[in-house]
Amino acid sequence: MAQSQVYYMDAHSESTETSLVSKMLTVFDAAGLDELVKPNDIVAIKIHCGEWNNSAYLRPVYARALADRIKELGGRPFVCDTTTSTYSPWGSRSSELDIVLTAERNGYSSATLGCPFICADGFIGTSDYRVDLPEGYLLKEAYVAQAIAAADVLIALTHFKGHGMGVIGGALKNLGIGAQSKRGKLNVHMGGHPNYGYGAAAKFHPERFKGKANTPDWEILEDCCPFNLYHINENDELEWERERCATCLGCFGVMGPRGLAEVPPVNFDAVDVAIADACLGVEKAVGRNKVGYINMAIDVSPRCDCANHADIPIVPHLGVFASKDAVAIDMACVDAARQSVGMPGSAAELMEAHHAGDAKFEAAAATFHGQSEVASINTGHEIGLGSRDYELVDVAPADGDKYKFPYDRRPSRQRFGERFEKFQPFPYDRHDGRGFDRHEKVDLEAMKKHYPHFVNGELSNGHVEISAEELVPADDND
Ligand code: SF4
Repeated sequence: MAQSQVYYMDAHSESTETSLVSKMLTVFDAAGLDELVKPNDIVAIKIHCGEWNNSAYLRPVYARALADRIKELGGRPFVCDTTTSTYSPWGSRSSELDIVLTAERNGYSSATLGCPFICADGFIGTSDYRVDLPEGYLLKEAYVAQAIAAADVLIALTHFKGHGMGVIGGALKNLGIGAQSKRGKLNVHMGGHPNYGYGAAAKFHPERFKGKANTPDWEILEDCCPFNLYHINENDELEWERERCATCLGCFGVMGPRGLAEVPPVNFDAVDVAIADACLGVEKAVGRNKVGYINMAIDVSPRCDCANHADIPIVPHLGVFASKDAVAIDMACVDAARQSVGMPGSAAELMEAHHAGDAKFEAAAATFHGQSEVASINTGHEIGLGSRDYELVDVAPADGDKYKFPYDRRPSRQRFGERFEKFQPFPYDRHDGRGFDRHEKVDLEAMKKHYPHFVNGELSNGHVEISAEELVPADDND
């Protein structure tokens, strides 16, 4: 397959035109994604709205600005996400009702976005469109969220970060998991698979349960499975109907920490491969050449936005990427992370994978040693979804005028001159025209110094060299 183009701007920002919002729009146009949108096209913008209490997900302003741009092009945008698997007994996005509430708390609503926010796979997550995948490496079918499959154009607006199962959470995962219905997610997670499913591959240790029935911490065992597959029998034994396991992930965090089941690494490896197959399913559902990708590689947290927290980013902001190729754009982001130094204090440093050249996601994001940060990328390359060979095209900032506040572009005197005469914010009539009551002169330099101070009762001078004169208490200084 020929190399693909990935359009790129770094993360530096010092002006309107180099704002990350402006850069997102600039690479969108540079990559030709604007040409995908025709008048009256229904355009799905697929985002990740973030789990309850996650704080690394993309700020809604990016989706808003993109929706505005699509409206300029004549399209009819909607922003969407999908219900999750019941991957925890306490997940916040497993039904339409829950995900809309979570999205609103995280700032995604029709009011903020200027277009509808839609749960794309219906109330429970069974509203979907089945796609045959004869090309699939592992999957032979995919179940794409209905609202996404029904769109004329799809823009995957992705927060590029790490992921405990996918290793990377990029464009491939945004569609390979995020654009699948709940049914589609169980397919990708290997539910019912005879070799890679959790039910088939996990090691089960029911003997560790004996004697724990009716103890408060263990009461959750029967309730963690939405398919009702765990039972405690009259002999105080834990039973698991593992042959019916849908691999919803709902019991991983309950059985694992209590030593009752071991999550099999092969399940994770298979999911990483299936993600690329399912992403191809989405492109086939919407139309090949009707899907565009933007990766915002900022706040690169080690865990996905589906986690109920966000750790220190493992690398500094990497930049803004756009492409028509999901494989190439994720490859470019992985390469950028690999070339970057890791963030001090992050999981990358804790795992001693903070040097330029280290495979940081494998070290800091993967759940198991041996998981690969390129498995989904390699699969996507193999099945013809895209190419891991790419040309990285540096994009220059656009004219700043393009990105100025659009509602009133007149300069300040024209906008405020008359209003300030009517509602004067500066009291010219007070203090001889100086307006406010203030000292005429103070020692500004004194307030700029680093003074010794006490932390937990101990004198701290931090990293600052303190001279003998500066050890005089501040009150005695002139
Ligand atoms: S047993 Fe299977 S279906 Fe039930 S919670 Fe666990 S992973 Fe989900």
